[in-house]
This record gives sequence, C-alpha cells and structure tokens, in this order.
Amino acid sequence: MPATHPFSFHLKYGAYRRFGFAPLFGLIFLFSPPKTTAQTLSIQKIHCSLNKDDAATIEKIAHYETDFYNAVFDTEKNDSLKINVHIFGRKEDFRQTPNGDNALHVSSDGYYLAKTGDVFVLKTDHLNASLLHEISHAILHQNMGNPPQWFDEGLATYFGSLIVEKNQIFYTPVTGRIERIREMDQKGILNLANYLNTNNKRWGGSEATINDQYTIAYSIIYFLVKTNLNLIKHLADELKNGQSAMTILGQDFGGFDFFQSKYISFYKNQN
Ligand SMILES: [Zn+2]
Repeated sequence: MPATHPFSFHLKYGAYRRFGFAPLFGLIFLFSPPKTTAQTLSIQKIHCSLNKDDAATIEKIAHYETDFYNAVFDTEKNDSLKINVHIFGRKEDFRQTPNGDNALHVSSDGYYLAKTGDVFVLKTDHLNASLLHEISHAILHQNMGNPPQWFDEGLATYFGSLIVEKNQIFYTPVTGRIERIREMDQKGILNLANYLNTNNKRWGGSEATINDQYTIAYSIIYFLVKTNLNLIKHLADELKNGQSAMTILGQDFGGFDFFQSKYISFYKNQN
C-alpha cells in the first residue's frame, strides 16, 4: 500500500484560475493505509448478520470518508470520531426507529439523525451505498454546524455513488442524474442561482421535485470534485464562515455566470 495520503489539497486557491482546470484525481482511489487508531464505527446489528469481509469493508468506507473530511477541513479530529451505526435486517424493526417510518415513506432505507449523531440503515443489497451516504452526513455535521442542505446532500449523494470493490473505491458518474441535468437545462428550468439562494429551508414538494433537488446538489459537487478538489475545500471553509455559495463560486470562477457556463458545458460534454 502506498503511504501517500489519498486526499492531498496542495494547490493554492488561485492556482486553478491561473493554470486552468486540471483534475487532481484519477479514476481510482486506493484506500488509505490501515490506521492504528480505534475503529470509527460502533456497529449495532439488529436481526442482521455481517460477515467479516462486510464489516471490514464498512470500516474502510468510514476511513475513506474520514480522510476526505480531514483534508477538506484541515484537521485530524475525525480520526477519533465515533459514529453509532444501527443496521437492521428487518424492515419492521427499522420502521420503529425515530425517523424510520418517514424514511420508508420516501423510499429511503437509511437516515442520519442529527439530534443524536446516529446512523440508521436497513440492510439491502445496496447497503454500502446507503452507509457511504449516511456516514458522510454524520462526519460533515461534526465539522460544520449547520451545512446548507444542497452541500450536505450533494456530498452524501456523491459518496453514495462510489463503488466499493475489494480494496478499492471507484467513482462513476450517475448517468440518470446527469441526463436529468441536461434535460432541465434544455427545458430552461435549471436555475442554479435560485437553487442556491433558496436552500436554507428543508426541501419539500413531490417525490420528483425532491429528487431533482438531490440531482442538482449531486451535480454541483460532482462537477467541483472533477474540476478541482480544492474547490470543495474552499467552499466548505467559506460556507462555515457564513459566506453564500454564490459568492464563493463567483470568486473561484471569476464570476457566478462563468461558474454556471463551465458547469453547463461540463455536463453537455459528459457521455
Ligand atoms: Zn442524505
């Protein structure tokens, strides 16, 4: 295993303006070397079984996200984080948890309970994706008091799209969401400024409307990750300082309109 840290943010903020938009990452990330620190997750299994490999993979997922958020927030504090994860084998038990009924109502099989910091997940064949998503919420909330919902869900949805195989993690674009972005753009209903400015309240509306909110959130994060990971770091720092996303993206791209046109052309060119 290489000893290099998988997430290095070594470019200065101005650099991507001067040197263009070179992505820092290739297609494959290696998991970081095993840490000597204690396990990040405290897993409680309720009528479900996990074999040794499943448990090891889940622990790696947590370390992978811990490394990411450590790099984003320039800290090591997430190494000593303890996250309580409850994994349910039976739907009826999951339903009995604090928000279980609401989660099932919107066809979700996992959620993060901000009040206690706990993660609740129903064991399905996409357990890893659910855990990647919910653990992202759990870690982000430890680093940022009240993240804007688009940023929180965008990162969680991005993590949820990673593919875990053996000792490697891959990221692939979520084709359905990318197609929807193109479609919304063509119909003239993709208004990023409006989206970012009205993101203080909880998302609501029909299932399709809420799904679009997730799609836009994911698409902004995916575009920024692919463009330059420092953009995520800068965004996190400045959002934490109370700056608006529009202002931050405007600064980074030499104007919000310029950000928007880069974003649109990125998605027009995705296969
Ligand atoms: Zn979520």
